[in-house]
Amino acid sequence: MVRCGPVAGLVCFLVLGLATCTAHGPNLSSGRERAAPVVATANVASQGPPASPTMERQPPEVAPGELAAAGSLPEVAHTETAPALDAPTSPLPAVAPTLSVLPPDPTPAAPTPAVPAPPASDAIRLPILMYHHLRVLSPKAGAIWEMLTVTPAAFEEQVAYLTKHGYHTIYFSDLVASFDQGRALPRNPILLTFDDGWLDDYTVAYPILRKYGMVGAFFPPTNWVGKSKLTITWQQVEEMDRGGMEFGSHTVSHRLLTPLKRAQVLQELQLSQSILEGHVRRSVVALAYPGGAHNGQTMELAAVAGYGVAVGVTPSAWQQVAERYTLRRITVPYGMSLAEFAARVGGSEGRPGRFLVTSP
Ligand SMILES: [Zn+2]
Repeated sequence: MVRCGPVAGLVCFLVLGLATCTAHGPNLSSGRERAAPVVATANVASQGPPASPTMERQPPEVAPGELAAAGSLPEVAHTETAPALDAPTSPLPAVAPTLSVLPPDPTPAAPTPAVPAPPASDAIRLPILMYHHLRVLSPKAGAIWEMLTVTPAAFEEQVAYLTKHGYHTIYFSDLVASFDQGRALPRNPILLTFDDGWLDDYTVAYPILRKYGMVGAFFPPTNWVGKSKLTITWQQVEEMDRGGMEFGSHTVSHRLLTPLKRAQVLQELQLSQSILEGHVRRSVVALAYPGGAHNGQTMELAAVAGYGVAVGVTPSAWQQVAERYTLRRITVPYGMSLAEFAARVGGSEGRPGRFLVTSP
């Protein structure tokens, strides 16, 4: 039973709401070897970057999108904003909000159990941590921002903890090889993921990961790269790629995929993959659904487009091949103590089916 604490009720509600999209098609497998269809760029390539914050306005819809998707948070508009920073040295965006890039009305979530079904016996213990912003928040930032943000100091403390306790960061391509070819993963594997391509990826996550000899997987929507002072540039993407980081698709526009027509979804998946692979040396094998929103069609098309895996936002440290297009991720919220972090990452050792998240 997943339980929410009183303060974290909203956050937990959001997580559970997103955990609803867990249905998936049978026996999906990577279509990586298939020839990718030619994709037109007209509809998605022209969309703008994330909008800059109107600081008082609201937090990002789960930066720009993760958890407010799927209709869980109707009162929070899908406005791409930066954290409500109040420090005078905080970088402020120079670009005005561009609301047109934001997803349309959220898709109603399908009714599903609040607690995800436990993994089957072939589940592997592979925590996939989900980060968005790495910065110091204003005390008034609010619950959503706090769910999406970790301070640089806390992030380094967490990475240091993982290093000290024998965790080994892997690439999603390693996981795909494990699924498809039975290739062994290192002991205590873990994946660190960073959604939305914020500049923090380059200025905070990248140097810390390098310092500790770890790697991360970064998911920038391709239309957002280099379009704002808040987001990373293609030059930075390429540098991080050379520095050993992995990149995955977060689509082109960051629109929720579930309301889109089949051709639109395919376009978002194929074009983003193609654009990314024009800048990085590694194959782009992983997809992160914007807002975590997915359904049978998006999962099927992820395979068709050639992705080997896709991640959602259902919390668990356990993965299995049958859920390769709905891999689970653990949110690391603001202010989490190292003891809580350790419990969330390392809890339920050897116990598939026991889900880790109760409340942040
Ligand atoms: Zn996102």
